[in-house]
Amino acid sequence: MVSGTPAAISLAPSFPLAFAKERWPLVPGALAHLGFSIIEPTTVVLPDIMRMRLESAEQQKARVQVSSCCPKVVRLIEDSLPEAVPLLSAAPSPATHHCRDLRKRLGPDCVVVFATPCPDKADEALRPENSGSADEVITFIELTEWLDQRGAWEKAEAREFSSQAPYWTYAGLLVLDVSGMDSCRQLLRQSDSLAPGFYELLGCRHGCVGGPGLPNLNNIGVRGAVILEYIESIRHTS
Ligand code: SF4
Repeated sequence: MVSGTPAAISLAPSFPLAFAKERWPLVPGALAHLGFSIIEPTTVVLPDIMRMRLESAEQQKARVQVSSCCPKVVRLIEDSLPEAVPLLSAAPSPATHHCRDLRKRLGPDCVVVFATPCPDKADEALRPENSGSADEVITFIELTEWLDQRGAWEKAEAREFSSQAPYWTYAGLLVLDVSGMDSCRQLLRQSDSLAPGFYELLGCRHGCVGGPGLPNLNNIGVRGAVILEYIESIRHTS
């Protein structure tokens, strides 16, 4: 980042898995030491995204819609299942929408970073339809290394995010329609026989909590329990 340039960071909702529990309250303060002035979980935009998905389904007159949130699934559809392209929701991903919102709030000469378990999100940010999204996409592995190198934890004090997302928005991590590429491919091939609805398809097994950009991967049961613990920790304040 250029020193003196206003900077914001959006944290994908699996961020509690990237840091030890004792560090959760220090995350905003540690990121402020890296130079970010707005620090928010991506899920702050989830209520907006739900509305945009409904509008997209109405406009596309679609009985079945597929989320465009997972770059692996979007690539699968575009490369091998062109008949499923019309099913893709026109609503942007939460990452794209949040990064655009952060840019609007900070002004045109800013840097917006998206931190994620998903290395493929860098491709999403480069797509023309997602212009104005993140300037930089970094994995949680890279973010934890950056924080360690800068000694940010030692200097950080507990503070709140610039805005916290409602606690229920994190529960989306634990609700999987379909995950894993084989299962996604199979469902998309049968899209004519699917019940009407919105389908969240996630290319990694177990969804984004299984994303390759997360450090310290525990088994899946432990990861779910950690997310539940985080939800409980913010439940009465968000
Ligand atoms: S499921 Fe995997 S590939 Fe898809 S958005 Fe999540 S981390 Fe990325």
